[in-house]
Amino acid sequence: MDLSAAQTPGMVCAHHHLYSALARGMPAPPRTPGGFLEILELVWWRLDRALDADTIHWSAKLGALEALERGCTAIIDHHESPNAIEGSLSIIADACAEVGVRVSCAYGVTDRHGADGAQRGLAENDRFLAAGGRGYVGVHAAFTCSDDTLAAAAELANRHGVGVHIHVAEGAADVEAADRIRELTTDEWLLIHGVHLPDDHGLRGTIVHNPRSNMNNAVGYARPTRFTNPIGLGTDGIGADMLDEFRVAYVKLREHDVTETPDTAWAMLATNLTLFPEANQDRVTWTYEPIDPWRLAFSPGVGPVSVEVDGEISWADGAPTRVDGAEIRAKAAEAADKLFAKLEDMP
Ligand SMILES: [Zn+2]
Repeated sequence: MDLSAAQTPGMVCAHHHLYSALARGMPAPPRTPGGFLEILELVWWRLDRALDADTIHWSAKLGALEALERGCTAIIDHHESPNAIEGSLSIIADACAEVGVRVSCAYGVTDRHGADGAQRGLAENDRFLAAGGRGYVGVHAAFTCSDDTLAAAAELANRHGVGVHIHVAEGAADVEAADRIRELTTDEWLLIHGVHLPDDHGLRGTIVHNPRSNMNNAVGYARPTRFTNPIGLGTDGIGADMLDEFRVAYVKLREHDVTETPDTAWAMLATNLTLFPEANQDRVTWTYEPIDPWRLAFSPGVGPVSVEVDGEISWADGAPTRVDGAEIRAKAAEAADKLFAKLEDMP
């Protein structure tokens, strides 16, 4: 990235869950989760079961709008909606295209809903990629998949010439992940989190660090500099403000090692661009210059003046140019109310 100007390529979010865009304000879980597995069971695995085509559409649109608003022009998304699988990736891709944000889609295959659920997840990845969609084959995580399902996902990804986008060793429950997927991984894989991976895990692929999410779930610190893999940066669904996530990544590094510098976290943003090189063609003009990690690490609130995606201005003067931002926010709020009502009724 050119560090002297107020312009950069588009920011890339290397791990997002657009389906969580409507989650803020959701009803409290039936009881307070006592750890990471309970956070999954009581919060996220209830939310994903409540999603339908309408809420997938509005969460993707709102998430894309909020990405653009923060200069993020390319999102690598990981999606799950067990009661609305077929066609879900196209709904997300279409919503992002309307707003003018690039997206890479993946359906998170899992055996949590039986063999049939896993099959339908694989089929959705296959359908989307076969139709020319940009994406990965998604897998939720090794600890919710049988060895057969993991092998089938890897085989499908190889067939489409893409990698697998999978959560790896995020919590202690998934410590066996490395041994189970080692022989399957390729350089194209996206390994999300890696908190509980050993230093010498032997996995191929890019590790995507999500420092804010890891802190929020109290799963521990990934200490990403110990790995030899390329390291990208994601938000794990908490927006797509990559300058903000960069600052969190930096301060977390620094907490662990006082000799660390902003350049280490900035390099993660550069890795993100290698995962989504099309974003190099995008142009973000920022409210601050120079775009220098040593300054930005201590400058909250820097945002885009304008965003150009694929030769077209998508954001200018504080608003999107291709869609009505106020309408998206209003419709997304209506969809969120519907979703929350469903969650209230859920056992
Ligand atoms: Zn995630």
